[in-house]
Amino acid sequence: MQTTGMGTKCVQGGYTPGNGEPRQIPIVQSTTFKYASSAEMGKLFDLESLGYFYTRLQNPTNDFVAAKIAELEGGTAAMLTSSGQAASFYSIFNIASCGDHVVSSSSIYGGSYNLFAVTMKRMGIDFTFVSPDCAAEELDGAFRPNTKAVFGETIANPALTVLDIEKFADAAHRHGVPLIVDNTFATPINCRPFDWGADIVTHSTTKYMDGHGAAVGGCIVDSGKFDWTKYPDKFPGLCTPDESYHGVTYTERFGPGGAYITKATAQLMRDFGSIQSPQNAFLLGLGLESLHVRMKRHCENGQAVAEYLQGSDKISWVRYCGLKSDPYYALGQKYLPHGSCGVVSFGVKGGRAAAERFMGRLNIAAIETHVADARTCCLHPASSTHRQMNDAELAAAGVSPDLVRYSCGLEDASDLISDIEQALS
Ligand SMILES: *Cc1c(COP(=O)(O)O)cnc(C)c1O
Repeated sequence: MQTTGMGTKCVQGGYTPGNGEPRQIPIVQSTTFKYASSAEMGKLFDLESLGYFYTRLQNPTNDFVAAKIAELEGGTAAMLTSSGQAASFYSIFNIASCGDHVVSSSSIYGGSYNLFAVTMKRMGIDFTFVSPDCAAEELDGAFRPNTKAVFGETIANPALTVLDIEKFADAAHRHGVPLIVDNTFATPINCRPFDWGADIVTHSTTKYMDGHGAAVGGCIVDSGKFDWTKYPDKFPGLCTPDESYHGVTYTERFGPGGAYITKATAQLMRDFGSIQSPQNAFLLGLGLESLHVRMKRHCENGQAVAEYLQGSDKISWVRYCGLKSDPYYALGQKYLPHGSCGVVSFGVKGGRAAAERFMGRLNIAAIETHVADARTCCLHPASSTHRQMNDAELAAAGVSPDLVRYSCGLEDASDLISDIEQALS
């Protein structure tokens, strides 16, 4: 759909029914699809014609929702995955394998850090973690001849650092590799990383995109801008024939806009099968219809709560890039001029023990591993999501032992503030 407004894309993007067809995206609850002849089926298997044959690889419900997200991000192709973790893994494994290397911001989601530093390292892929605030020369120094990608998070969960996307994109492109950005917290409503030079975007749609705490999911979007054919030796999987698909060369057959996602679908989804269920894709699509309305309210609540906390003498520090005193205020103004997200991080005076006591006394905010949905929730990362990390790793990830992650939902800011006030007192 050719529209420019983000609200219209949220509501109507990705799916345009024909005459007499369902107005809402239909849930295609079927593992398989029927064909009249084996010859037709064979063409699908050789990627010679488009169509569905088995939901482990592709399903129409998922594709409608993925198309909506591609429109929102301004990309050429997208795919849904079963979770954000699967999206992060596929986004890198699609272009890196055993013996390769990736440069990543150190300020990333704890699950991504573990995936990269432990599990993917076990698969033979090495990661170098750099501070998101590092100078361009230090960033350049992290690259090796076998580096295949750069990874970072627009707004890091839970450290709330803001990535200088242009700085990371420039470095990636100087070294002939793409920049992959996890855009979960900002969502395309508040930042479109492709507009700043990123090449691939990933999401945990579990968060604001679904927005209701209803469905775990992920998404990968390709900008179509990275020219893989300029570096055929670096990206042989995209630029040379795939024997498992009768010698198809993805960049030749599907062009710059389709090669990356087609390969991820045809190889990784086929072999790993981390498909999002069509039911969950439907719920995600429903959530996306109000994303633009919800993000505005999440940001208003985040700003109000951050300002209240900053004025409280029971709080030792507050991190929210909408505060003028925040170290990421300037980057926030550049990349997130309309607001960042509803998540605020802060420290309660008295450290870890005081933080846990405070959280236990909140009535509206529930203690949950979850973040970024309609209901306000909070978490103590050092004792939960980030508990595998030692103190040095926690510091590099921007997570102090007293950090409370408070995720403002869609309730009234005045109620959230009263609740925080009574818990602090
Ligand atoms: C939650 C999260 C993930 C992982 O997503 P799941 O859907 O939980 O697998 C990845 N990145 C960020 C920024 C997240 O917040």
